Amino acid sequence: MVEKCISLLKQRGVTLEDIAECVVYLQSKYYSDLTMDMAMESVMAVLNKREVQNAILTGIFLDMSAENGTMEEELRDLLMRDEGLYGIDEVMAYGICNLYGSIALTNYGYIDKVKPLIIGKLNTKGAQCNTFLDDIVGAISASAAGRLAHNK
Ligand code: MG
Repeated sequence: MVEKCISLLKQRGVTLEDIAECVVYLQSKYYSDLTMDMAMESVMAVLNKREVQNAILTGIFLDMSAENGTMEEELRDLLMRDEGLYGIDEVMAYGICNLYGSIALTNYGYIDKVKPLIIGKLNTKGAQCNTFLDDIVGAISASAAGRLAHNK
């Protein structure tokens, strides 16, 4: 299942390195000797949780269904426009962060606002629908960073 999630993320343009870079971005101020290897290890620990895998599968499925039109028209319109008041993409992100406590939640709020690195790229409008994907990547990064903060 984790392999399936990693390949789905890759298919949608997100590598594990992209996520690890976001973790370093979030933590480097508090954790000066944090390496990409440590960030990557924390990303893998988050990805190994079943609930995180379920969120990845569900979110990417919804993005892809919006893209290929196999979705109710009104909902499709919301997802294709990435309507700001839709909000369910963020709720799914909280679902991931909740597994890692309040540091993960505040990290997510921050990274969702600033949109650095891959999260910024996912947010620039293209043919691909990333309404759920950007929040999922943000939540995984935020959780992996929160995990490092707790284990320090
Ligand atoms: Mg979104």
